[in-house]
Amino acid sequence: MPEGHTIHRLARDLRKDLTQRNVPVSSPQGRFAESACVLDGDVVSRVEAAGKHLFMHWESDQILHIHLGLIGKFRPYPVNDPLTGEIRLRLEGEKTAWHLTGPQTCVLVEPAVVAGVLDGLGPDPLRRDGRRGDFVDRIAGSKKAVGAILLDQDVIAGIGNVFRSELLFMVGIHPSTPSNSLTEDQADEIWNIAADLLRVGVKLNRIVTVTPEDAGAARWRLSDDERLYAYKREGLPCRRCGTEIVIGKVANRSMWWCPRCQPG
Ligand SMILES: [Zn+2]
Repeated sequence: MPEGHTIHRLARDLRKDLTQRNVPVSSPQGRFAESACVLDGDVVSRVEAAGKHLFMHWESDQILHIHLGLIGKFRPYPVNDPLTGEIRLRLEGEKTAWHLTGPQTCVLVEPAVVAGVLDGLGPDPLRRDGRRGDFVDRIAGSKKAVGAILLDQDVIAGIGNVFRSELLFMVGIHPSTPSNSLTEDQADEIWNIAADLLRVGVKLNRIVTVTPEDAGAARWRLSDDERLYAYKREGLPCRRCGTEIVIGKVANRSMWWCPRCQPG
């Protein structure tokens, strides 16, 4: 599943390609055809990301709500490429057409729906209104394992399975530590690192957590085998201490950590 950086990056790229022009909108697959007709030729006024949700605001006051879910993709193609696959939504820019396939949500909504989604989300470190204090309070108020609570979108918006393993590695905290036993400084540190890593993710359009100090190279140079500390590295040596990374289930999903850098 895409994490928050993907959605914020999408918002940025869609803004760049589609705002300030009349956008041909269609649904080659047909399942969004009626709403595509409503939007066809309209102008995108604003694109907003919140956690894993994307909202496209149009000059006609229509709002398009998109959530990619587990398998959704929203990708750019050269505008004259032949259409392939089950394209729910196609937005045509000058040189690029954006194709949405397999989304969990692609629907026109009222402003109240947007407000409801935003109300239900925890703070998003990539948004100006994402407040660190709210995150720290929510961590302090729960006995849940910290490895589990980081996936709760109403505690912190945008964190998924890759980031939760990486974040806890970087702060040196075992995933089953009860959230309310963390110090305020530790919660602060998780927030600050999350904000930093998400920003790197937006910039590079992929998750790279290994620091230039640990890698001996800039983050953008790191290959897929070099860019993460813990996620899907079970049995491989920790990049900091050499101990084998282990895998376990936290909140019913696989999670990875270093038993030495993140003692229980
Ligand atoms: Zn280690």
